[in-house]
Amino acid sequence: MTTTPDRLPGDLPGHVAIYSGKVRELYAPLDPDTGLVDESRLLLVASDRISAYDYVIDSPIPDKGAVLTQLSLWWFEQLADLVDNHVVSTAVPDAVAGRAIYVRRLRMLPVECIARAYLTGGGLAEYRDGGTVSGVRLPAGLEDGSRLPEPVFTPTTKAPLGEHDLPMTYEEVVAQLGPALAERVRELTVQILSRGNEIAAERGILIADTKVEFGVDPAAVGVGPDDEVDWTSLDPDSLQVVLADEVLTPDSSRFWRADEWAPGRAQTSYDKQVLRDWLTSAASGWDRSSGQAPPPLPEEVVALTRDRYVEAYQALTGERFAPPTID
Ligand code: ATP
Ligand code: MG
Repeated sequence: MTTTPDRLPGDLPGHVAIYSGKVRELYAPLDPDTGLVDESRLLLVASDRISAYDYVIDSPIPDKGAVLTQLSLWWFEQLADLVDNHVVSTAVPDAVAGRAIYVRRLRMLPVECIARAYLTGGGLAEYRDGGTVSGVRLPAGLEDGSRLPEPVFTPTTKAPLGEHDLPMTYEEVVAQLGPALAERVRELTVQILSRGNEIAAERGILIADTKVEFGVDPAAVGVGPDDEVDWTSLDPDSLQVVLADEVLTPDSSRFWRADEWAPGRAQTSYDKQVLRDWLTSAASGWDRSSGQAPPPLPEEVVALTRDRYVEAYQALTGERFAPPTID
């Protein structure tokens, strides 16, 4: 049996737990007057869980949830003129101070919106196979870590928990969302990555790729929360696309140090490298191909990984990370 390491209060007074993701817990607040669920909002809580190679690791990384939440809030503000976001309030219960926000409860689009500015990972594998990424033809001669002539939209499906997201071509996104909505999310995803890279470059960081999620006001969709949406049947002009979830964090993006960037080899990533190096070393005793979950992390790997997350936050925002305190 697997247990998820979790320091979250399973039970949060005034809220009902509605979803537990790989990293986040979603709660719906209760209306203090009526005691009924407030359907318009969610409390989005980032836990300290960390995943690698598609496993949630059995050791939480202290303060990771707070770093992700604070960094996303910072980016939402940087991007505010580009795209509307889901943030409502940061005045959250003490038990989740610093790592939670109240957000607008949206109907999420069924696409993981990924853009790549540099070639690596799954994008590189596809390029080596056929010279394209998500159906977009790229110049010959690109290597691991090469900068792309321009950022490419490489969406995937949003698979249910425990299943793998699958690559989608742009045509498949159009078939799901209709041409106008597809074009809007492609454009926004690429713009978010490009703006992110402009800002990160001033801080010596490259953002190789990133994943964002968008949603729309459920009222505009016109069906109940459990009903399927036929996105192609909606009037795209009446839909305002809102940036949700998290944005430009070390969990959703690959951050590289600009001064160490050298195409033609794997780049040192800011965040999970320490963890990945240990997991794949003899010291961990873990065989990735065994199909077994990785072992818990030694203390020093936990501490070094925490340092990397905090470092990324501080480098990008130029602000000191202050762990949340509860009075
Ligand atoms: P992934 O690894 O792809 O992020 P996950 O579902 O395990 O998958 P979590 O970040 O742990 O990810 O969970 C957050 C969940 O909350 C996601 O399913 C996301 O789509 C959803 N979500 C985020 N913001 C909103 C919002 N404003 N309204 C409704 N759902 C949201
Ligand atoms: Mg997520």
